[in-house]
Amino acid sequence: MRPRIAVIGSGPAGLAFARVLHRHGHPVTVVERDPARDARPAGGTLDLHEGLGQLALEKAGVLAEFQALSRPEGQAMRILDVDGSVLRDWAPRPDDRANPEIDRGQLRDLLLGPLDVQWGRAVTEVEPARRDGVLVHFADGRQESFDLVIGADGAWSRVRPAVSPVTPQYTGITLVETSLDDIDDRHPDLARLVGDGSVAVYGVNRALVAQRSSGGHVKVYAQFRVALDRHTAPDRHTDPADAEAVRSKLLERFEGWAAPVLDLIRQGTAFIHRPLHTLPVSHTWAHVPGVTLLGDAAHLMPPLGAGANLAMLEGAELAEAVVAAGAEDLDGAVRAFEEQMWARAGRWAAITTAGLERLVSPDPSEALALFDEVQPS
Ligand SMILES: Cc1cc2nc3c(=O)[nH]c(=O)nc-3n(C[C@H](O)[C@H](O)[C@H](O)COP(=O)(O)OP(=O)(O)OC[C@H]3O[C@@H](n4cnc5c(N)ncnc54)[C@H](O)[C@@H]3O)c2cc1C
Repeated sequence: MRPRIAVIGSGPAGLAFARVLHRHGHPVTVVERDPARDARPAGGTLDLHEGLGQLALEKAGVLAEFQALSRPEGQAMRILDVDGSVLRDWAPRPDDRANPEIDRGQLRDLLLGPLDVQWGRAVTEVEPARRDGVLVHFADGRQESFDLVIGADGAWSRVRPAVSPVTPQYTGITLVETSLDDIDDRHPDLARLVGDGSVAVYGVNRALVAQRSSGGHVKVYAQFRVALDRHTAPDRHTDPADAEAVRSKLLERFEGWAAPVLDLIRQGTAFIHRPLHTLPVSHTWAHVPGVTLLGDAAHLMPPLGAGANLAMLEGAELAEAVVAAGAEDLDGAVRAFEEQMWARAGRWAAITTAGLERLVSPDPSEALALFDEVQPS
């Protein structure tokens, strides 16, 4: 008898897990809260590292498709001073495939491929060690039992409480996201400013980063330190749904910065507030038979280019471990996987936590120093 396996969530972690299991001919139930694959915008661009996200795609058998879709030129990075002068301007070599970028939507479609996702099925609770395995409760009142339940349901996981009482904590830094469409035609000056990849500007306790996706779409992230009770609006008098009010508060916050940099805010469309939360750097739990976590559900960390990469590799590795173990030693395989995941994720959580402190820092030279430490020459 093959074990009954369910993965909760169809983000990078859940899809990588399901796709590798599918490749090995192992049945898996994928449930997702979103009502359909295009129910909400997929988001911006992700850089997939050679030994992390790209390795997961290789295990899933879709690396060649990724290489055809991805944008190696998107690795380009320019850093400006707040007065607009160029401090660093780095472009990858044409054959550099270390961290190419891919749109999140393209990555999702690539991983979805032949998978049969049960859309519109939100999980509310997971109960381990029930008579017939692990009991999953759904928002529509239904219940189903499985031998193994994988919580790949992101930062605010409903599976996590089955293994750990820990919840994400606010970092003190909020990110406000806006977008520009058809930048090459509609805002050619800004298109040159952003270039093929990203442009970043670091000031005192604040930063502005713009990243190009495919099709002339650009995401702009304004980051700053602010108390959590003000995260839904830049101040208590601003309605977050009122784009013009949010825009004018943001422009006040970045007052004095060069006009072309501020144009990234002036030309932005809707604004989304993302207060950055994290789990503790070394989040682990006492192993619970039949339930485990992957990706952000296990180790939510600052968004510094590792989260989706780790999520995907963990998904692929756990799937391979499950296939290799079969029904006899499923629990042993999950236990061993957890140890490996905790060790690697702990290292990345420490790196990204320290990185966020340096990128949104009282001393903007810290951001430049970090760039020089990590960027290949
Ligand atoms: C602005 C920003 C930029 C980032 N840039 C990068 C980057 O360049 N590189 C990188 O590696 N990482 C990046 N990250 C981090 C990355 O987005 C996450 O680490 C990654 O998406 C985690 O994948 P996941 O599958 O664990 O969770 P998620 O992507 O959050 O997916 C979870 C899925 O579970 C579903 N779900 C949630 N609750 C339930 C429920 N109760 N029942 C059923 N389904 C549910 C959700 O709808 C979602 O589809 C960035 C993050 C942010 C915020």
